Amino acid sequence: MRNFFWGSSSTSPPVAWEQVCSPKSKGGLGIRPVSCFNKAALAKLGWKVITDHNNWWVEIVRKKYLWKFSFFDVPKQPHQSFAWKGILDSRDIILKGMRWIIGNGRNIKFWTFNWIYDFPLIQLVDENTRPFIDLDESVLDYFDNGVWNIDKLNLHLDSSIVRDISFVNLPFSDREDEFVWGPASDGKFSIKSATWFQCNQNVHPKANLLNKIWKLNLPPKAKIFAWLLVRDRLKTRARLSRFNSNINPVCGLCNNDVETSDHIFWSCPKVWDVWTISNLNHNPTTFNCFDDWIVSIVRVLPGFCSACFSLLLRCLQNPEPPCCCFIHYLK
Ligand SMILES: [Zn+2]
Repeated sequence: MRNFFWGSSSTSPPVAWEQVCSPKSKGGLGIRPVSCFNKAALAKLGWKVITDHNNWWVEIVRKKYLWKFSFFDVPKQPHQSFAWKGILDSRDIILKGMRWIIGNGRNIKFWTFNWIYDFPLIQLVDENTRPFIDLDESVLDYFDNGVWNIDKLNLHLDSSIVRDISFVNLPFSDREDEFVWGPASDGKFSIKSATWFQCNQNVHPKANLLNKIWKLNLPPKAKIFAWLLVRDRLKTRARLSRFNSNINPVCGLCNNDVETSDHIFWSCPKVWDVWTISNLNHNPTTFNCFDDWIVSIVRVLPGFCSACFSLLLRCLQNPEPPCCCFIHYLK
């Protein structure tokens, strides 16, 4: 897959590997990075240890390793099995993805577990205050006769955070704390969601459009072409010239402007002819901006791709050595 995108070309790769390895729903290519997958598989075993108390394997593990400490507190020892150490290494993922629901507050660590926000409260405490904080305090330590101890909360927390906490209702009866897996909508842990959870979660601004592209019934090559186009990662002259000063960034079709993605597909007057010939009824001049046009063009993408072939033919007829994107992607 790496070779497919990067090949042996000395130019810069079109898309960062982290972006390729992000979910399609976030605008990525949906390829799961192996290291994240492995860690997610170990985290699944860890999740089993803390949730599945009827499992015989879990029973053995608990008797062997967890007779003194809880799963999150037990230290990793050199003599322990390779698999168990791997499971313990996955605890950071589990902790980051867990969302706690307050019961008696006994098992929820006030500062380091996610129970009020999607991140631990300790992150909201400044560096100078951290040495004075007891990280082992539980949420229960902040209860006072069934209500929040506001004075204690005010000691180290900003008033806006204290207000957020005070809005969390405490249960009337004594029930155990519960937790769910936050990244999944059903709260259930899965290797798939834990893999993506570790990846770069930055959502691409055109994620919805990119996601639509994957659902179209098109050959993979056409989808990847459209994906690179929307992300502005095609090998246009403008982009190539940034990495190689010998490349002239000016459009080889009109010789009038820099060949960017939006120029070569949208604003170049020579390209308008192609759209007219294509019968797609998608003349770029009827759209206010490149983005509007792209959103519209995706609906007729099969036709769009054949129009690209016509443009490719024009590029090949051009006497200047072509470095135009079509040559690379559609030949
Ligand atoms: Zn042009």
